[in-house]
Amino acid sequence: MRFQAPRGTNDVLPADSHRWIGLESVFRELTSLYGYREIRTPMFEDTELFVRSAGETSDIVSKEMYDFQDKGGRNITLKPEGTAPAIRALVEHNLCPPGAVVRLSYVTPIFRYDRPQKGRYRQSHQFGFELVGSASAEADAEVIELTIRFYERIGIDGAKALINSLGREECRRAYRQALLAYAEPKLIGESEEFLAKVRRNPLRLLDSKDANIQEMLEEAPKVTNFLEVESWQRFEALQTLLTDAGIPFEVDSGIVRGLDYYTETVFEVLTDKLGAQSALCGGGRYDDMVKEFGGPPTPCVGVAMGVERALLVLEQIGKAAPIPNLGAYVVRATPDAAKAVHGLARELHAAGISCIFDLDGRSIKSQLGQADKSGARFALILGTDELSSNTVQLRDLATSAQAEEPRVGIVDLLRSRL
Ligand code: AMP
Repeated sequence: MRFQAPRGTNDVLPADSHRWIGLESVFRELTSLYGYREIRTPMFEDTELFVRSAGETSDIVSKEMYDFQDKGGRNITLKPEGTAPAIRALVEHNLCPPGAVVRLSYVTPIFRYDRPQKGRYRQSHQFGFELVGSASAEADAEVIELTIRFYERIGIDGAKALINSLGREECRRAYRQALLAYAEPKLIGESEEFLAKVRRNPLRLLDSKDANIQEMLEEAPKVTNFLEVESWQRFEALQTLLTDAGIPFEVDSGIVRGLDYYTETVFEVLTDKLGAQSALCGGGRYDDMVKEFGGPPTPCVGVAMGVERALLVLEQIGKAAPIPNLGAYVVRATPDAAKAVHGLARELHAAGISCIFDLDGRSIKSQLGQADKSGARFALILGTDELSSNTVQLRDLATSAQAEEPRVGIVDLLRSRL
């Protein structure tokens, strides 16, 4: 019986994993530079956590959750996003008492029962960070700046933030009513299920990928026309901060995000390299979540960046990192050199030079073939002759040039050639 990875999931194969590791290290280095500390939460949570935060009308909760009852009858969901679990942990462990500011980052798989296509998977991965405890426009600007800096560092140039403000609850309520009043008469013929969802939260219309709905929305009222003075002022302050920081951005009133928990600022970074799946990341402010989870009122802002999408874009623009080469393959030319081969390999490992050697007593020809396949830069050959003359044959696997070198100092010589 041969098995396949479940639909919508991907194996990260050895030839690709270095690209993931590379991106993860840029993310970890950069977030730590800005004072963020990583949080790791379980792969599954109480289902109610996501219903409460993402909202019942969100696509995630209404149709995409991997939810099940465990053997104890608990309702469990594989995490479909990273923010709610991070904030649940923050509240549970009392990490953000009133007045404190906490910076959290995470690297996590997420699970969504979605229709798989390029850039959209049932298990995908996110880098995210959350700035907890500040309601200022500076906090929004920091998160957006750090997001753009990440894309710059990994080589996706020209990333631009599309920003919008959803205002406070009163503003969103008035806007939802106005949007529904505008849209409802134009939705005749749509399914009852869709209409019910739109009536419960008209903002969901703005996430629709349907071209007819997008067209119908062109003349729809804009949320920014409903902002209260205070929200408008902080949105303007954010724009000034982003301009000062040299962050490319554009105001786009169509950005509302697919999760119900957002308040005030929302943003996305889009790419034209991925067809329909154009969002590289999405984020914004969610000032009510900590309170919803039983903590004191605590403003928060954060972002989640799709790892697969960043990798796909890098591949498309020809910036996929090449596989790092092994430094050396140590060849045992005669059986009596086994101990010397182990010793040399040990010395190379201790010096930080990557190497492997034959484990199965293959012929010298076969070992050199393996060395070529392994992608090693050099072969180091040891046999009876080399043992007696205290030498090593150093073979450049790219050019096949070979020379006898003293055994003493071979590690330094190799280092200087790599
Ligand atoms: P969201 O949590 O929906 O705001 O998503 C944030 C980012 O995660 C998106 O902009 C995508 O880059 C990525 N993402 C979300 N869902 C998927 C998925 N099913 N497959 C691949 N990437 C995803």
